[in-house]
Amino acid sequence: MDILKNSISQLKNLYIKKEISPVEVLNQIINEISQRDKEIHSFLYLNEKVVAEAKSAEKRYIEGNYRKLEGIPIAVKDNICTIEQPTTCASKILQNYIPPYDATVIRNLKENGAIIIGKTNMDEFAFGSSTENSFFGPTKNPFDTSYVPGGSSGGSAAAVAANLTFGALGSDTGGSIRQPACFCGVVGLKPGYGRVSRYGLVAFGSSLDQIGPITKDVKDSAIILQIISGQDKMDSTCLDIGVLDYEKEIEKEIIPSKYKIGIPKEYFIGGMDKQIKDRAESIIKQLEKQGFILEEISLPHTEYGIAAYYIIATAEASTNLARFDGIRYGYRTKNYSNVQELYFNTRQEGFGFEVKRRIILGTFVLSSGYYDAYYIKAQKVRSLIKNDFQKAFEKVDIILTPTTPELPFKLGEKTSDPLKMYLSDIFTVNVNLAGLPAINIPVGFSRENLPIGVQLITKSFTEEKILQMAYYIENNIK
Ligand code: GLN
Repeated sequence: MDILKNSISQLKNLYIKKEISPVEVLNQIINEISQRDKEIHSFLYLNEKVVAEAKSAEKRYIEGNYRKLEGIPIAVKDNICTIEQPTTCASKILQNYIPPYDATVIRNLKENGAIIIGKTNMDEFAFGSSTENSFFGPTKNPFDTSYVPGGSSGGSAAAVAANLTFGALGSDTGGSIRQPACFCGVVGLKPGYGRVSRYGLVAFGSSLDQIGPITKDVKDSAIILQIISGQDKMDSTCLDIGVLDYEKEIEKEIIPSKYKIGIPKEYFIGGMDKQIKDRAESIIKQLEKQGFILEEISLPHTEYGIAAYYIIATAEASTNLARFDGIRYGYRTKNYSNVQELYFNTRQEGFGFEVKRRIILGTFVLSSGYYDAYYIKAQKVRSLIKNDFQKAFEKVDIILTPTTPELPFKLGEKTSDPLKMYLSDIFTVNVNLAGLPAINIPVGFSRENLPIGVQLITKSFTEEKILQMAYYIENNIK
């Protein structure tokens, strides 16, 4: 068990020193998953070939030609395509789907020796904040299984928190990496838009989605980010902007007196959990004491973010989900006598409730007559939100906020009230609308022993900045 508590960088050192072998680790982890994941339900699928892959990793350590993630088990959210392993998006409509190709991020991980240990649970098509929208049943928070792990990457966050994997990939359209990382007390990084290839990620909101790492510490986040980043000819939105050695970057010294941290007043609102507010404020005070320049800033259009997000994200989702029609892949109804019925019944039977709600909403805001009133308006708001951040970054290096306004909630607590569920993302969605990089780092626990996190946000293509600061906080803040 103890071996499984190590971070990626620690495990790698143990491998190099031959104190433990990849085969032993993989055997232990499979054992743990088969026992403890019955309750947590973070995995939907376990890779049957892991032990064979661990054997070849072992050989490489013996021969001394090991790669960056040689023999390191990594779990992957089930909306990222993996050859020979199912990719279901936690939906009935893709229940038996096995992609014929690997996503670019998976190829990158494999080329660096990682072992894709399995696929993790999520809200169906990444629509949700609690992982309760999974067709296969919810994931539970490892800190207390009566609570949700957050979502939509709840399976990945729970698996990392429960030491059932050493790291994981999630996807974040409006907070789905950072919010579950926050609820599970782990590190979750959403790269800036265009940093990581989306090729092979089942699209939700194409202008918002990014894949990113969920890990036990900041160093592991830096290691994985470097491996999955970089231009990809399969995704024209993934740009050719130099990828740094983030593991080295985090070690660079920060000079507090030259460092400005912005605290947006709109992120410290009435109604937010007092323990979260107190914890964020105590971190701010400590940073100030250590010499950082803290400045109150304003992001005046913050309050319109949720409304704009749920128009843009559902509009994009409704078009992206048009491809699931029972013809090309996935589930097909048995109940049809003509092609119209085939489409209709396949989608009626194959999609869950929240998916249908979003398709209806998205189709509505794109329909002629409503397009200008909703979709165009939301795009204008999006520009205003982007401008708010741009202006702020003329003054400060980094922005610090709570990641969520509330502590993890109980299973079932919000399932009957979608609007309440949507508000979980109030501190995360604007970052996606603006395309910026942001990270959640765990900063302690509530009285009920539930994790608390803070979020750091920075300018596009400067992921090293949030990683450096996150690393500083991890090591210097009590
Ligand atoms: N919870 C948000 C939603 O339901 C964000 C989801 C995500 O980031 N994938 O849309």
